[in-house]
Formats: sequence, structure tokens, C-alpha cells
Amino acid sequence: MDLWITFLGTAASVPSRARGTAATLVAHGSTRVLVDCGEGTQRQLLRSGAGLVDVDLILLTHLHGDHVLGLPGLVKTYALRGRERPVRIVGPAGLNRMPSRMGPLMRTPLPVEVHEAQSGVAIAALDGGRIEAFQTEHGVPSLGYALVEADRPGEFHPDAATALGVTPGPMFGSLQRGETLEVDGRAVRPGDVMGPPRPGRRVVFTGDTQPCAQTVLAAAGAQLLVHEATFLSADRDRARETRHSTAAEAAQVAQQAGVGLLVLTHVSSRYAPSDVKAEAEAVFAQVIVPRDFDQVHVPLPEAGAPVLHRAGGPGAHGTPADGERDPGGDVPH
Ligand SMILES: [Zn+2]
Ligand SMILES: [Zn+2]
Repeated sequence: MDLWITFLGTAASVPSRARGTAATLVAHGSTRVLVDCGEGTQRQLLRSGAGLVDVDLILLTHLHGDHVLGLPGLVKTYALRGRERPVRIVGPAGLNRMPSRMGPLMRTPLPVEVHEAQSGVAIAALDGGRIEAFQTEHGVPSLGYALVEADRPGEFHPDAATALGVTPGPMFGSLQRGETLEVDGRAVRPGDVMGPPRPGRRVVFTGDTQPCAQTVLAAAGAQLLVHEATFLSADRDRARETRHSTAAEAAQVAQQAGVGLLVLTHVSSRYAPSDVKAEAEAVFAQVIVPRDFDQVHVPLPEAGAPVLHRAGGPGAHGTPADGERDPGGDVPH
């Protein structure tokens, strides 16, 4: 099953010329999940080439404006297009009050179902897996999300099976389903002809948070950790004040969790992305700082590490990475 992550908005707090506010599209098989929905997410979806995807689920990490202001527009558009399937939104405590707060902006004939998630409880089933929420630390109710696939059966070795007298065909299927067979008076067990169970994938999104033990736990052994990096270490005091992470802190979390690839988002325009990457890289080598519309393909664990696919090739967005730098002092959310 394919697993692609598309970064639709990677800016911290306010959009810049090159980056939209927080939004990430997860494509897992035929399921489409949006993690956060910052202002302009509809247009980012269109520009990404994905189109205005009818997402199955919207996961909100917290209710700061730079993560939710795209919702009214997206819901309105779904309603105008005649979508009938309810829009399902999951988020932290306080989410239940959101539709009434957004009032007329969210009033459409299209049903919007909101669900306040509990940490550690599966909130959605996926084909071969689930999505779980975990508590993060951002000074307001906030959650991270882990996409977790179940273990898969081990690799089947047909040669070993035939050597034990098993005939190719339905008997192979029985063994692969975990059934024990009797062949010539002897038991043939699935473990005789199959390798050990193969782990599924784990992909974790933090949203805004200071570094915390819950993220390390949730991301333990994950193929991919998408972590915010709003500050550099020089501004560590600001990071503590506003409950955000520095690039080095995000890298320490990745290192402690032993993830395959760290993806840094929520990038402030006060820094050059190359500096954000360099600070993290000094702690944890496998790190990228994607631009908007970049994608990461996450193969099954035995098929190798996640792979970054740059949107449209080098320079497609007309802005060299370091050209994004803007010394203006935005207020982190
Ligand atoms: Zn934010
Ligand atoms: Zn925030």
C-alpha cells in the first residue's frame, strides 16, 4: 500500500511568499487525511497537484489560527460541490465548541462532525492500521498524531512448503492465513514456511509543541517524524516562552526515538531554512526541511528509507531556499 506525505503548508504562524500556514496531506492507500488546515489550504491543495481532495478525516493538532483558519473555506467548497459525506474533524479539547464559534462561516448543509480525541486511544481505523493521538506540550490543549500500521505476516517460502510435502494451491493459502496443516501424518505450521512477522509503518506528526517525552514514545522506531522547528537555539528562551521547539531540540527527539527520517516544519521566515537544517543535522543526520508541495514517499520498512520528492524539481517555486529569509519578527502560535 502506498504512503505519501505532501507538505501543503510549512510556515510558522504566518504565511510567507514561499510557504503557506500549517497543512499536510497524508495519502495512505485510498484514504486521504489532512493534518491541520491553515488559511489557504484549499489553494495549496490545488497548487500541489492533488486537487481539492475530498478528505476522509481532518486532524487538528491544536486550535491556533495558523492551523485551523482554512477550515471554513474548505468546508464551504465541499458543500458547494455537493459533497454529502460528513466532514469528520478530530482535535484536542475545545474542538466541540469550534463550529459554534465559527458560526455562520461554518454553516452549510454539509454535516460537520467534530470529535475531541483522547491521548492513546485509536481515533480512526485505516486499511491495515489506525491513527492514534498523543498529548503534546504547547500551552493550550494540543495533540500529535501517529499513523500506525499493524504487523504483516512474514514472508512465505514456497520452496520450504513443497519440501515439507505441501501442494501449491489452497494449502499455501491456509498456511499464509496462519492455519496448521496435516501432511502425511505430520503437522506443518505457518512458522515452518514463513519468516517472522514484518512490522508495519509508523509515521508521526507533532503539530506545535516543545520537545516532550510523549513525542519520543509515540515516535519510537517510526519511519518518519514530522516535528515543528519554530526557532533556532539562539532563540531558545523564546521557544520556552511560547512552548515551541528549536531545530536542535526536534533533532534530539528524533535521535531519542530512533526515527528513520526527521522532517522539520513550522519554519519561521526569520531564519534561512538551510540554517534550520544545519542546526538539526549537527544532532541527527537524517533530516530534511521541505518546501511547500514537496512530498515524502514512505516505503514499507523492509523496502528502505523514506524518500524526498522535491516539487517540480529544483527552483520550481522561483525562490531559492535562502531567499525566503525575512528579518521581520512574526509572533509564533
Ligand atoms: Zn502554529
Ligand atoms: Zn500554535
